Amino acid sequence: ETSILDEIKETIKRKSVELLHLQFVDIEGILKHVTVTVEQLEDVVEGKMMFDGSSIKGFSPINKSDLYLQPDLTTFAVLPWSVEEGYSEARFLCSVKNPDGTLFEGDTRNVLKKTMKRAADQGYTISVGPELEFFLFKNDEKGYATQELGDKAGYFEPSPHDLGERVRLEIYRALKAMGFTIEASHHEVAEGQHEINFKYADALTAADLSTTYKWVVKTVAQKFGLHATFMPKPVFGINGSGMHVNMSFFEGSENAFFDPSDELELSEIAYHFIAGVLENVKSFAAVTNPLVNSYKRLVPGYEAPCYLAWSASNRSALIRIPAKKGLATRVELRCPDPSSNPYLTFAVIAAAGLDGIEKGLEAPAPINEDIFHMTEERRAGLGIDNLPGSLKEAVTEMESNEFTYNALGNHVYNEYVSMKRAEWDSYRTAVHAWEIENYQSKF
Ligand code: GLU
Ligand code: MG
Ligand code: MG
Repeated sequence: ETSILDEIKETIKRKSVELLHLQFVDIEGILKHVTVTVEQLEDVVEGKMMFDGSSIKGFSPINKSDLYLQPDLTTFAVLPWSVEEGYSEARFLCSVKNPDGTLFEGDTRNVLKKTMKRAADQGYTISVGPELEFFLFKNDEKGYATQELGDKAGYFEPSPHDLGERVRLEIYRALKAMGFTIEASHHEVAEGQHEINFKYADALTAADLSTTYKWVVKTVAQKFGLHATFMPKPVFGINGSGMHVNMSFFEGSENAFFDPSDELELSEIAYHFIAGVLENVKSFAAVTNPLVNSYKRLVPGYEAPCYLAWSASNRSALIRIPAKKGLATRVELRCPDPSSNPYLTFAVIAAAGLDGIEKGLEAPAPINEDIFHMTEERRAGLGIDNLPGSLKEAVTEMESNEFTYNALGNHVYNEYVSMKRAEWDSYRTAVHAWEIENYQSKF
C-alpha cells in the first residue's frame, strides 16, 4: 500500500489539499465525516483518529463509545467543487475499528466485507452494478426543499432549457473527476426524475460508489437551488425511485452466471442464485426497502415490483435477466430502493444467492406475462407470492427466520430491528394528511 500512499501524497501536494474529510456511514447508510488538516495524514493513515460512537445511529452504547477510523486508501478523492487556486479538500471512506484494532461489528461496511469473504471461500467474487434513481425538487429562498418538481420532462426527453439536464451534466463532471466510470445519464419516466449510471464493480467498491454518488448528487443539486432526494416515492401517482441491483458472481475472470449452452444462457449457479433470492427476499425486504415510504413505491403499475417472480425481460417481475450475456450476464433485482444502505443491501442479496447455491435450490419457471394485469386467481394458480405490503410486515418477515440475522450479524440485526420497530410505531401513531382529508369533514 505504500505506493498508493505515495501517489496520495503527490496528489495532496499537486492539488494543494489542505483538509481531509474522513467519511463513514451509520446503520442507515447515511454519510458522516470528521474533517482534519492535512498535517494529520500520518496519524490518519495509521487509524489513530478516534470518535464518539454513541452519537452515531446504530453504533455503540455510551459506556463503550470510543471507536477509530481506518481510511481505505483506494477511496481517496479530491472534491472537485472545493478546488480553488492553492486550496482543495479531499476525502477518504473509512472502516470503523474497535480500540483493540478489530473490525467494529456495527459498521455496515464491515458486514459487506464479511459476506464477500463468505463468497470468496466458495471461489466467488461478487460483482454489482446498481442503478440509483432520484428526484430533483426546487428549493425555496431559504434553501429548503419545496414540493415543486425541478422540471416537467419525461423519459429520455432532451430539454435544452431544463435545469434538470444542466444539473445532470454537472453531476456527471463531478463524479468523473472523483474517479467514477460513468456509462449513461438520462431523464427518467417521472417529472423531475433522473438517473446517472456508473460501471459495475466488486461489491464493496460498488457500495462505496453508491454512497459517494448520493452525496455528490445532493451537493451539486444544491448549487443549482435544487434538492435531490433518494426517497423512494416522493410523489403519489407517478413512478418512484428504485435502486435496481445487477449482481453476478465471478470465478477468476469468468462470469459464473454465464452458460452459452442454456436456453437463456444462464448457468446452474445463476438459477440457484435466483432461487435463493426468491426464497429469502421477504425476509430481507426491510433492508432493501427500509422506509415506511418504500412500500408506497412497491405497488402495481409503476415499473416497481410487488410480486415474487422472475423473467428474462418483464419489468413487472421482481427479477429480470438483462439481454446482455457473456461477461455481462447478471441478475437484476428490482425491489431495492436508493434509501437503503447499499452495504447492507448488497450483503443480503449476495447472502441469499449464496444460500441458494449452497442448498442447491431450484428456481421456479419464469413468468413472461404482465403480472400487474393478472387476476389474483391466476397469480395464485401460478404460485406467485407478494412482497411485504408495509414496513410492519417486512419487519415481521425479517424476524420470522434466521436468514437476515445470519446475514447482518448480531449487532446490526438487533439495532436494525429495534430502529425499524420504533419507526413504524412513530408512523402508526401519527395523524396523516390523508386522514384529515378523508375524515375530518365527513365525521
Ligand atoms: N422507477 C422504476 C422503479 O421504481 C424503475 C424504472 C426503470 O426500469 O428504470 O423501480
Ligand atoms: Mg431507471
Ligand atoms: Mg434497471
